[in-house]
Amino acid sequence: MFPTTRLRRLRQHPQLRSMFRETELAPTDFILPLFVRFGRGERVLISSMPGHFQLTVEHLAAEVREIAALGIPAVILFGIPEHKDAVGSDATSDSGIIPQAVRAIRDAAPELLVITDVCFCEFTDHGHCGIVVEKQGRTDVDNDATLEILGRQAVAHARAGAHMVAPSGMMDGMVRAIRTSLDGAGFSHLPIMSYAAKYASAFYGPFREAAESAPQFGDRRTYQMDPANAREALREVQLDVEEGADLLMVKPALSYLDVIHRVKSAHPEVPLAAYNVSGEFAMVKAAAANGWLDERRTTLEVLTSIKRAGADVIITYHAKEACRWLADTL
Ligand SMILES: [Zn+2]
Repeated sequence: MFPTTRLRRLRQHPQLRSMFRETELAPTDFILPLFVRFGRGERVLISSMPGHFQLTVEHLAAEVREIAALGIPAVILFGIPEHKDAVGSDATSDSGIIPQAVRAIRDAAPELLVITDVCFCEFTDHGHCGIVVEKQGRTDVDNDATLEILGRQAVAHARAGAHMVAPSGMMDGMVRAIRTSLDGAGFSHLPIMSYAAKYASAFYGPFREAAESAPQFGDRRTYQMDPANAREALREVQLDVEEGADLLMVKPALSYLDVIHRVKSAHPEVPLAAYNVSGEFAMVKAAAANGWLDERRTTLEVLTSIKRAGADVIITYHAKEACRWLADTL
């Protein structure tokens, strides 16, 4: 009790503050998303995500060597195929854009882990996350038909050499379907990171430019979660744990710190990732460009808050800068 108890005593000296800091960031906390496009030629700047590009396969080697040299352990891949169709054929092909990218990265930076996003929105001409059907006058993604092609997509990534697959489409049963397909194809050792609680969020705006994956009609609210719901997230993650998910994910991160905390509290034994999404990145970049926020301090505070909430790893577009800043403070 005051005046005997004075918490300011341990804040007086920088060494005291660093000794008793509860949450520390390290390069091994980060996964960096990469966008890989078909063809050859110049990198395509993603205007709403400064510093990020759509890279063709030929540009990957230099990029991933830089990422590995910074100490970032893993990348997660999103693909922009040459041809899109109703069932996302490129996504299940061994010569699709993602298998090509996986092979190129493994050649160039063998120490880097390659995680692949498993979903169809970048590969379908309608931009939805699976096979679309019309039932009773309503057009929607057919859950169970999509499970079958999700399994094939995951196996194509595994055959190319992916170290982990990450289903993001919020289909019911997706983890079990992918686990069964991988095991049947001889990949029982390959971990699954499930986008277990993924919300229908406005913060994905810049990503849709980056991945050219905006839905051509409707929205994703029949499969992604309502931002108002947290208890439902616990049901989603419980199911994914039972289906065999090795890692869970909450996406987005910053508006969902309570969900991260609840998921970690409910499943402390299961590793948890959080996705610091494109809109969260773009807000900081835009404010920093205007001189309204200090980008370094703001970013490190955001990342620290995500880890403090309970995330073990953070998927972030700020991974490279964060590693440079962390090295700088040593
Ligand atoms: Zn999707």
